Amino acid sequence: MKKALFFAFAILFVFQLNGQDNAAAISDQNYFVTRNREELIRKLVDLPCGIKADDPVKVIFGKMKVFLVAFQPSPEYSDDIYAKAANLQALESAMEGGYGIGSVLISQDGKIIAAAHNSQMQKHRSDLHAEMTLMTDFEESHKSKKYMILYVYKPGLTVFSSAEPCPMCFIRINTAGADTKYCTPGPDDGMASRTDFLPPAWKEMALKRKVSLGDCSPVMQKFSHLLFYSFLLDDRGPK
Ligand SMILES: [Zn+2]
Repeated sequence: MKKALFFAFAILFVFQLNGQDNAAAISDQNYFVTRNREELIRKLVDLPCGIKADDPVKVIFGKMKVFLVAFQPSPEYSDDIYAKAANLQALESAMEGGYGIGSVLISQDGKIIAAAHNSQMQKHRSDLHAEMTLMTDFEESHKSKKYMILYVYKPGLTVFSSAEPCPMCFIRINTAGADTKYCTPGPDDGMASRTDFLPPAWKEMALKRKVSLGDCSPVMQKFSHLLFYSFLLDDRGPK
């Protein structure tokens, strides 16, 4: 009888834990979808940087910058150092009037060897996503010789993006032979988590590389997501 009671409690306990886990996962997933300006403003006000609902766009970005610059990555989250650097790039683009997406290139020994941000609007170029600019500038630089064989990167390089790479960028990263990491998922546009939808040859190539969501703190994930959707603040971009 005691045994039966113990199992009943154990089952109830596990069931409750699972329930909590599911609730947490669902609530997190919901955070990474922002449908309109009001929702974006609510989430920005909720960040720990003192943003007010009626702050002008410039003031919002200014407060985000103060927080990001002072942010001390914790060893608890091994990729926060890269998330901070990618978010600073994303913010730079947003402050220039562009889309808030940034990325960094990480060497085999964990050093940031290149950084870039989206500049489609700034340079009127459809291809200038953060990862594309990062890789083009890196490949054309002198330092790339140490890390490349013809057009392919030597093993161990990682492209770390503030947002999950789109199909164009993900294929470019794979073609170069780099691994992919990102701070925040792209529920509507990300390709890194949808390799099953690639044509067989591209899928085979993608499976040879490491692809994963970074080990980032919730606050860095929120920054990445909200910077991605910062275009909603002043409705920037083509109509
Ligand atoms: Zn892209």
